[in-house]
Amino acid sequence: MTLRLYDTATRSVRDFVPMTPGQAGIYLCGLTVQSSPHIGHLRSAVNYDVLRRWLLHTGFEVTFVRNVTDVDDKILQKSQEQKRPFWAIAFENRLLLDRDYRSLNVLPPTYEPLATGHITEMHALIQSLISSGNAYAAEGGDVYFDVSSFPEYGALSGQKPSDMRSAGDAPDRHKKDARDFALWKGVKETEPDDATWPSPWGRGRPGWHIECSAMARRYLGDEFDIHGGGLDLTFPHHENEIAQSKAAGLGFARYWVHHALLNLGESKMSKSLGNVIDLDSLVESGIRPVEVRYYLASPHYRSRIDYSEEALREAAVAYRRIEGFVQRSVEVVGPGRPKTVPPAFADAMHDDLNTSAALAVVHDTIREGNTALAAGDEAGIRGALTAVRAMLGVLGIDPLDPAWDNSGENGNDLKPVVDGLVALALEQRAQARARKDWAAADSVRDQLKNAGIQVEDTPTGPRWTVGEH
Ligand SMILES: [Zn+2]
Repeated sequence: MTLRLYDTATRSVRDFVPMTPGQAGIYLCGLTVQSSPHIGHLRSAVNYDVLRRWLLHTGFEVTFVRNVTDVDDKILQKSQEQKRPFWAIAFENRLLLDRDYRSLNVLPPTYEPLATGHITEMHALIQSLISSGNAYAAEGGDVYFDVSSFPEYGALSGQKPSDMRSAGDAPDRHKKDARDFALWKGVKETEPDDATWPSPWGRGRPGWHIECSAMARRYLGDEFDIHGGGLDLTFPHHENEIAQSKAAGLGFARYWVHHALLNLGESKMSKSLGNVIDLDSLVESGIRPVEVRYYLASPHYRSRIDYSEEALREAAVAYRRIEGFVQRSVEVVGPGRPKTVPPAFADAMHDDLNTSAALAVVHDTIREGNTALAAGDEAGIRGALTAVRAMLGVLGIDPLDPAWDNSGENGNDLKPVVDGLVALALEQRAQARARKDWAAADSVRDQLKNAGIQVEDTPTGPRWTVGEH
């Protein structure tokens, strides 16, 4: 079995055949950092992290590039509103984004290029598009891509040029055709000096689309394996990336993977609509980052998630069941060494990353493991535990992954303190029991319970958990 992925460009599920055997190059459109991330953004990160982990698990070397757009209209608008430099706003939001990625155990990218750090590469690409007759400099220092010069324009999103809307990124009167899009934007009077760079066409800043073409080329070469992003980026962003790169003679992406969005009610989550749910607010409501990740990774990446608190809480309960099995098993047989995943799990993941079918295998294995636990069958427990941990590792949600120890970054940094206090209370309880003061021992347990900590006695000593199980 090999991995099969749905490729938007061919509208079919295709065998993944890498350019170089054993290696995979992935470019994922990252965020424009005009605000902090919401869970829709985090879904994107989690989905591609699962793809990456599956490739790693099946022996690939993966080069994973996720860019940051750190200058654009929205950031400049914020900069004006807040009377602060655009780069201060961009950097502040990058830190928040990084923190959320770490909290959700998203592996750091191999490279994380910033748009403002790759102006030279963009100039080179724009220059070659002008030379080949695919782009033209216009009034006001703008440079536009000439859509009519690229016959395949519209192929990715399945549109006829005649049905397309205006690019809307500059007054149409500056362009040969309203659908032409900006590669370079000449400086406007209202824009700050520090958000412009010199260029052969005058001072200005890059258009959004050219950034990704230039940065993908810089880190993955003229042609690479997989380009990812949200379904909402198919047009115009990805259509334009293809036009720029292919018109410049580059092979560009061989597979186009798009994930479905996370909606709140009927609409896409967005700051401008004021319907945003972020990781901090979920953690404050008592859902841990690992449970958020489980919630985001459970549906197939091409299925839309309609956010509901109820579904999120159900996911948290399901995850706690998985965690409970892992804890109980570890107490009997130790953590073991997770290695291979069951064939049914591999089949599900190879089948266009069918995480919901893959999780069904996790739950089946846990059922078998629970039977082994009830029977005291240590070999059975060990087999189920190592299989479950291997599968959870691929999904990035192994409860024993040390990454979760500091998931406290989003508000739960009291964990070491709580650990220490509970250990102290349990020691007092043990001392009370040793002197046969049962009333005092029970009182410690009851007080812990009142504080939301459940204590359970096991053959290897007391085990405690936070919350109700
Ligand atoms: Zn992009």
